[in-house]
Amino acid sequence: MNRRQFFKLCASSTATSAITALGLMPGEALAAVREFKLLRAKETRNNCCYCSVGCGLLMYSHGSNGKNAEKSIFHIEGDADHPVNRGSLCPKGAGLVDYVNSPNRNHFPEVREPGTNEWKRISWNEAFGRIARLMKQDRDANLIEKNSDGTRVNRWLSTGMMTSSAQPNEGAFITHKFARSLGLVAIDTIARN
Ligand code: SF4
Repeated sequence: MNRRQFFKLCASSTATSAITALGLMPGEALAAVREFKLLRAKETRNNCCYCSVGCGLLMYSHGSNGKNAEKSIFHIEGDADHPVNRGSLCPKGAGLVDYVNSPNRNHFPEVREPGTNEWKRISWNEAFGRIARLMKQDRDANLIEKNSDGTRVNRWLSTGMMTSSAQPNEGAFITHKFARSLGLVAIDTIARN
């Protein structure tokens, strides 16, 4: 090494030390392994809401339960222990986390009055009262009690009902009994949405 090379080496060592002393070097090596994203997450089991297959899900949320922790689901995957899907999900189910966090998702009841294109937010109590009142009005006006032969049929054809497709047997039984006891014929589930 000649004299000129020696001075260059000293100058570059001094500059590197100064940068480190100023805190400009990262604390961890750049090649450090990224932390596993589900570490410390809270795991919750659920069922996919989309269709009657009823695939099992594992939903992961920030789970410290601390007051300053953001409560949100950030990852959803198929439940490998679930007897229906054994960990697999179809494309609809695999996109559930985007549905859960969608800015277009409704979080409260809304009503669009006849003749307007404006959606107005209402309370759950208003919504339940309104639904019950309108159902009764429509049923009173349109229930077909007897057919042309005079046989009692009690059909209510002017209203339909959309139910959940992710209910257990007991919930589906009660829903079905409720709808049929009113005379509803048009019943469907969200499976075909
Ligand atoms: S929509 Fe897909 S993931 Fe959801 S229950 Fe049906 S088959 Fe399973």
